Amino acid sequence: MTIAQHKVVTIHYKVTDVDSGEVIDSSEGGAPMTYMHGAQNIIPGLEAALEGKSVGDEIEVTVAPADAYGEYSEERVQQVPIEAFQGVEKVEPGMAFTAQTEHGPVNLIVTEVEETMVTVDANHPLAGKALKFEVTIDSVRDASEEEVAHGHVHGEGGHHH
Ligand code: ZN
Repeated sequence: MTIAQHKVVTIHYKVTDVDSGEVIDSSEGGAPMTYMHGAQNIIPGLEAALEGKSVGDEIEVTVAPADAYGEYSEERVQQVPIEAFQGVEKVEPGMAFTAQTEHGPVNLIVTEVEETMVTVDANHPLAGKALKFEVTIDSVRDASEEEVAHGHVHGEGGHHH
């Protein structure tokens, strides 16, 4: 069975930051990752590289930021008054928050704290990075009708609900 629209795919993977050579994530020694192909469960550049592959195939692909977690945007860095953090005992760089906006929830990371202002960055932590994926395909199966309707995998490695 080859990987195509709405197949449920299990992969072992290693992700490396191309510029620094740092390993960002790996399934080595842990559970493999399961996703539904063609349902935007994973980044577009990796999904495209997996199309048509089958169990046992090993692929290595370098994905540009635009096809990974997006380009880094200065517009997504903002300063907000420290009063916006009411109820937080101490606001510190590196803290992660979820802000409710008119476009839905946005994950923010505090990058700088001054007396009255806090700088927050809404870029994905991997925005602007080219990533190298080394992937081995572990299993491929058809998705159930329910999984297709939900757009994600159920059971092992997926959603339980
Ligand atoms: Zn579901």
